[in-house]
Amino acid sequence: MSPVDVLIIGGGINGCGVARDAAGRGYSVILAEQSDLASGTSSWSTKLIHGGLRYLEHYEFRLVREALQERDVLWRMAPHIIWPLRFVMPHHKGLRPLWLLRLGLFLYDHLGGSGLPRTRTLDLVRDVAGQPLLPEFTKGFEYSDCWVMDSRLVVLNARDAADRGAEILTRTKVTALRRRNGVWSATLDHVATGQRRTVEARLVVNAAGPWVDAVLRGPLGRKAAPNVRLVQGSHIVVRRQYDHDRCYILQNADRRIIFSIPYENDYTLIGTTDRDYNGDPAAAKISDEEIDYLLDAANKYFAKPITRSDIVWTYSGVRPLFDDGASKAQEATRDYVLKVDGTQGEPKLVNIFGGKITTFRRLAESVMEKVEQALGARGPRWTAGSSLPGGDFPSTDFEGLVADLSTEYPGVSSPLVRRLARFYGTRARTILGSAETKNDLGRDFGAGLTEAEITYLVDQEWARTADDILWRRSKLGLEFREGGTAALDDFLRIASERPSVEVAR
Ligand code: FAD
Repeated sequence: MSPVDVLIIGGGINGCGVARDAAGRGYSVILAEQSDLASGTSSWSTKLIHGGLRYLEHYEFRLVREALQERDVLWRMAPHIIWPLRFVMPHHKGLRPLWLLRLGLFLYDHLGGSGLPRTRTLDLVRDVAGQPLLPEFTKGFEYSDCWVMDSRLVVLNARDAADRGAEILTRTKVTALRRRNGVWSATLDHVATGQRRTVEARLVVNAAGPWVDAVLRGPLGRKAAPNVRLVQGSHIVVRRQYDHDRCYILQNADRRIIFSIPYENDYTLIGTTDRDYNGDPAAAKISDEEIDYLLDAANKYFAKPITRSDIVWTYSGVRPLFDDGASKAQEATRDYVLKVDGTQGEPKLVNIFGGKITTFRRLAESVMEKVEQALGARGPRWTAGSSLPGGDFPSTDFEGLVADLSTEYPGVSSPLVRRLARFYGTRARTILGSAETKNDLGRDFGAGLTEAEITYLVDQEWARTADDILWRRSKLGLEFREGGTAALDDFLRIASERPSVEVAR
């Protein structure tokens, strides 16, 4: 078999973004992910497509400008899973002065990106956003950023890459990587079955996120690979704390900020922490100290105290930041760095260090420049004006999509139609098919998750276990009962024993 053009290690946002861009330009692509898609850092983010207001304090103007411009681009690409949010920043008299906040937000409004409402000043005594806060917070500002269903963004990139010819292999670990006869020879082990496959590739992209150095040390056999600094970030999910749909950005005395964000209808997401981490990235777990930190930070602002008993779920992830020698975890750059390994004539390895979900598409374009240098150009840049699967409707008209689907499927309840529109955009029609009532979608496993949706997730989105569906393709796990999870696992086991059926689009 002739070598594939590009082998990508890692099915997080960066690997899947590169796979999509490369496949769309006409390169042959294989992506290997050792677990499920988005099982690494890309599921554990704060889920913001944002410029990163606080990075202005670290003079990261290029990063902020690029990210703000990208916010508009990504919103247009996937308006079902990305949507605008308003952030309320109360002024804390003992912390950053008003003039500094005003200056930062002025820059934030003007550095790049123009599609969202601008900053406005808030009188927190009168505005409803002031109601949940302690009475000492009387002034504030409100600005825009976007929300993203992070793990769905990953899967949609993988889906589109596959639609354009890429081979996406999940539960497949790259265990050895050697240069041989002018190409890469990679050993791919299927984690569940133990099946082994050797793939030859003309170029390899190491998009293993927090494992990027482990890939250099393990499969590649390097003695030392000290490129990334692992920084743990944890979140708590508590019962919904207030009734409006705005978020809060809360300053802390240690100069960090935390967010409080309405989450999955009934909850509030609070995060994140920022602390150096040395263990296995897959084992990161919130500590008692982090829980206390987040509760303390929130309780300095909210009138109704939030306690441990309000916590319904927590999650923790590890940022793979490029090690720029910063002394504090919060000061290490959030920018990405690409390093090409390989001398003249050798097949190249492109290593990705750092990056944010927000900048994945731009990062993929930068990786493609390296691919073009090594393999020759194929197609032009194309992703900026494209849609991700299901995102082919106007970004400001999500309600129009919901209305159309409700008209087409009058027998399916409005909340379910809305949820399917959110998850799948225009591809919700593939799941709903010719259903006249919800019963036509098959068995309901709980929280409106029907057989029709599960079949779609298995056939189109590489879902294999209950966890894949309940915590990565969705967050329905928050609503699910134990018995439902076991029934879902049984159903998936049986589904995995039948040949994959391509659902018509
Ligand atoms: P990952 O998502 O970790 O993907 C790497 C993949 O490689 C993994 O799935 C892993 O299983 C796989 N892998 C590893 N080794 C192998 C191997 N040998 N073979 C096959 N597969 C392998 N960014 C934002 O833009 N907005 C935010 O709000 C935001 N908030 C964040 C909050 C926290 C707490 C954290 C931790 C990060 C946040 N980020 C945010 C940053 C963002 O989440 C990450 O930069 C991004 O997800 C990294 O993606 P990745 O593809 O590089 O890594």
